[in-house]
Amino acid sequence: MTPLPLHNETHPLAEALGLPPFERGWVWLAGAGPGDPGLVTVLGAHAIQSADVILYDALIDTALLKLARGELIFAGKRAGVKSCRQSDISRTLVSLAKKGKRVLRLKGGDPFVFGRGGEEALALARAGVPFRIVPGVTAGIGGLAYAGIPVTHRDTNHAVTFVTGHDANGQLPDLDWASLAKGSPTLVLFMARKHAGAIAAHLMAAGRRGDEPAAVVSDAARDGQSVVVTTLAELGAAAGGTAPAIIVIGENVRLREGLDWLGAMAGKALNPWPFGAETLSDAV
Ligand code: SAH
Repeated sequence: MTPLPLHNETHPLAEALGLPPFERGWVWLAGAGPGDPGLVTVLGAHAIQSADVILYDALIDTALLKLARGELIFAGKRAGVKSCRQSDISRTLVSLAKKGKRVLRLKGGDPFVFGRGGEEALALARAGVPFRIVPGVTAGIGGLAYAGIPVTHRDTNHAVTFVTGHDANGQLPDLDWASLAKGSPTLVLFMARKHAGAIAAHLMAAGRRGDEPAAVVSDAARDGQSVVVTTLAELGAAAGGTAPAIIVIGENVRLREGLDWLGAMAGKALNPWPFGAETLSDAV
């Protein structure tokens, strides 16, 4: 096995791709992807290998940390679990960078999708600390792909909306649910287990059908992934549980019948015509 390079050496892949060096005194805010460690970006892996210190959150797969040679600090947040204060995390990032460390803030999914990456980056900007953002595969797209559900599909939805089911106080956000119901054929909900029933009720009150398909994808792209396919009317009951879950509402959920590639690997038979014979996807 090739020995891991030292801090002042460039990793062969980083060199081949011309990746930027991780400079001292910088903070990189990177996404780790939804679960499967293979879904981290090359730039994200390069950052993990180069960092002097990594503040990682609860949603990342810790196998990724095997690549690290720096100090590891857990800075996680999970609903209902004692967690680090946001201001403490931002302050730690600033103070480590000011000591001249290469600081990596590693977050689940994408740091700018319901990940407070913007808040942390603004704190860095205010403190005059230079930073780079390394996007990641969000659970709202990659997690659904691991459930065999394309986030868009020509036969079902020309638009998709990402929604959080949770505002800063844990309440259902004050959104225009009637407009979302009418304007967005597919809704992808983060942190929405608790308020899923209320969201479904809002959408149905605005005209969405109770038999519209929905899915609750828990621990997406992880070993324990589970997918519950349900309907809008039943969504509140189906959304119980504590594992992180993405909820998707829309006709695109039906594609899972034909595209559950993980299920197929375990012997499940796929139905490659989930909408019958006449579908747009057949048009040349
Ligand atoms: N920045 C992250 C989202 C952070 S908010 C991203 O882009 O994916 C935390 C919420 O993300 C969780 O409550 C859950 O709704 C969702 N989530 C993150 N990882 C997940 C996973 N592996 N499976 C299911 N949901 C996940």
